[in-house]
Amino acid sequence: MTEIADLQRRRAFEQNRIKVLLNSMRAEEEANLKGGPDTVAWVKEELCIGCDQCTIVCEDDAIELYDVPLASPILQVDINRKAKILRDPCTGCKLCVLACPTDAITMIDR
Ligand code: SF4
Ligand code: SF4
Repeated sequence: MTEIADLQRRRAFEQNRIKVLLNSMRAEEEANLKGGPDTVAWVKEELCIGCDQCTIVCEDDAIELYDVPLASPILQVDINRKAKILRDPCTGCKLCVLACPTDAITMIDR
């Protein structure tokens, strides 16, 4: 019969394996992303959920959130926000792309 300690060991092993895998995928994703001063971040509005993660990581104050009307009148939500990139202060550092949980941000040429 499987012991609890054995299950905990296997769970910790699996957690570590998944963490290593995700980190390596993230590193690959970052390496493949274009960035730098010749690029600027771009938000796909339809994917943005207004979660504010990108504004937290952006050190150049290059992202603003703005209110938009709700897509459906039956939803009772006080605020419905979207992110907008300010082109001039954006340095192309890519941090917001990596922070966005919905993959709403991409890097484009200036
Ligand atoms: S690429 Fe960097 S500077 Fe530009 S909006 Fe994203 S986090 Fe800010
Ligand atoms: S992190 Fe992504 S989903 Fe969240 S506000 Fe920024 S662009 Fe929108």
